[in-house]
Amino acid sequence: MINYEPNEHGYWGDYGGRFVPETLVAPLDELTEGYFAVRDDAGFHAELNDLHQNFTGRPSPLYFAKRLTETLGGAKIYLKREDLNHTGAHKINNCLGQILLARGMGKKRIIAETGAGQHGVATATVCALFGLECVVYMGTEDMRRQEPNVFRMRLLGADVRGVDSGSRTLKDAINEALRDWVTNVDTTYYLLGSALGPHPYPLMVRDFQSIIGREAREQIVEKEGRLPDVLVACVGGGSNAIGLFHAFLNDDVRMIGVEAGGRGKTLGEHAARFMSSASVGVLQGTKSYVLQNDDGQIALTHSVSAGLDYASIGPEHAFLHDVSRVEYASANDDDALAAFKTLSETEGIIPALESSHAIAHVIKLAPEMSRDSVMIVNLSGRGDKDINTVREIFANS
Ligand SMILES: *Cc1c(COP(=O)(O)O)cnc(C)c1O
Repeated sequence: MINYEPNEHGYWGDYGGRFVPETLVAPLDELTEGYFAVRDDAGFHAELNDLHQNFTGRPSPLYFAKRLTETLGGAKIYLKREDLNHTGAHKINNCLGQILLARGMGKKRIIAETGAGQHGVATATVCALFGLECVVYMGTEDMRRQEPNVFRMRLLGADVRGVDSGSRTLKDAINEALRDWVTNVDTTYYLLGSALGPHPYPLMVRDFQSIIGREAREQIVEKEGRLPDVLVACVGGGSNAIGLFHAFLNDDVRMIGVEAGGRGKTLGEHAARFMSSASVGVLQGTKSYVLQNDDGQIALTHSVSAGLDYASIGPEHAFLHDVSRVEYASANDDDALAAFKTLSETEGIIPALESSHAIAHVIKLAPEMSRDSVMIVNLSGRGDKDINTVREIFANS
């Protein structure tokens, strides 16, 4: 049997680890120690579970999508409704875990990066909840595209700082957050948003998100009397996908991660790290698959969904890819937009554009499967944030 846990240095096989300037080694050690002190602590988990239930609204339902299932005419499709969480996505699961950790470590100031703004909003929310100072770094291009989320974060009391370097998107925001952390390590906790970055973040974020799969496992056994045949989730950095997959890794369950195919297969036109052009490299503290050119320059990426638009992928996914435990597929912008419409019209659920990539793959796969097979799709977030993007696209097409 394969061991799916990382070693003590945060490596899954060749992937992960810690590739950071010397000044970040001590704070990362402090963080690792702080995290392992609470990882199995009953008091910590009791407080976290109380927040999951009463602040977020967990457990999120496992919903049988009857009309979508009938329309596609194959596998029974269940949606894990992370879109119903407070703040509208799975991101809050991780933020609640990390804010309790930060408070326990005595940190008074929280910093975060955000791309689409979903992680920034979730971070600003938990900082308001605990009365902690919050600084969110965001590329100015993303601030323009996601203006409502910028306003939301400011309403919640966060200081949103625009980052005007590079492509002015997520990668640049992470660089700036790391720079802040180096300067202010004593007082500051860096609340990272996906299963990425230097050890212990990929492990810690995975742990905090794996409540998705633990719940789904119980719920499907209750509804179907057995485990599902297939799990499907979209993959940006990889946190909602690994959150769903983790509780099933040792079972006979097929798993598919869906990346952003963007508008074409050429480097720069997509964010599908496993599709073709990616190779192994180091980006923002961790070793994984990275979209880069022959000289090792990080490639630009494109996706209609800001949350999937990133040149690298969490190290655990790189490992799961190489050992063939998880399959990776991609859905392009057009397929995701079509899926966005299909789910809205057949189920009355408007999905996030990120989650629409997973739905797009389900639309392809479900009809090829028998009617007694069972599929769980992670609906990582709701589509309210994407209404303006979609409106513009449909108006111009
Ligand atoms: C941020 C986000 C994603 C992508 O991040 P992962 O870490 O890959 O889960 C997917 N869906 C939604 C709704 C998001 O907000």
